[in-house]
Amino acid sequence: MNIVLLGPPGAGKGTQGERIATRLGIPKLATGDVLRAAVTQKTPLGLEAKAAMERGDLVPDAVILGIMKEALAEPGSARGVVLDGVVRTVPQAEGLARVLSELGRQVDAVLLFEVGEDELVRRLSARATCESCQTPYTGREPGTKCDKCSGKLVRRKDDEPEAIRSRMRAYREQTEPVVAWYEKRSRTHDDPNERDHNGPRVVRVNALGDIDEITKIVTKGLGK
Ligand SMILES: [Zn+2]
Repeated sequence: MNIVLLGPPGAGKGTQGERIATRLGIPKLATGDVLRAAVTQKTPLGLEAKAAMERGDLVPDAVILGIMKEALAEPGSARGVVLDGVVRTVPQAEGLARVLSELGRQVDAVLLFEVGEDELVRRLSARATCESCQTPYTGREPGTKCDKCSGKLVRRKDDEPEAIRSRMRAYREQTEPVVAWYEKRSRTHDDPNERDHNGPRVVRVNALGDIDEITKIVTKGLGK
């Protein structure tokens, strides 16, 4: 089962992605990890990615997709993967569909972690992080001391309300069309004239519930 995770930063999709991957006994592939591994192993595409980064350029989608295809073709990924951060735009969704079809596979499910902007701001801005050891704390005031190392707790710039709202804007602009793209394909599930075309199942999850409860909802939604 090949699963795509979608959701804004801070919605906890990394944590749930790990749990789902463990539950299903398949690996979780995150773009950043796969890219770093290719660079470390000095594969031809890894070297291309490294050259782009050293020039200060973004790594082109084609290179990332090539690296992702190599990771998907590994024997460990044969039973399926959980893809985190791989699809953020419609062209990336199209590219992934192409790469998977070249491997005789498809996206089987899309998990959409939904969260209201105000809730996300409330949740993240209630977080304080230790300046010294980076341990995050929820519901603690900045300025108090870390339990582990007595370092000072500060609010990270990323957790300031304005930074969160700006990330949410970028997410909505890029990713909402991706959700619509997948939903359009998934609807053919119910279309008797298009039985051959198995679009992905799109599962919507309220990302701010209890963490165990979310795992249950997700696995049930996946039919597992
Ligand atoms: Zn600390």
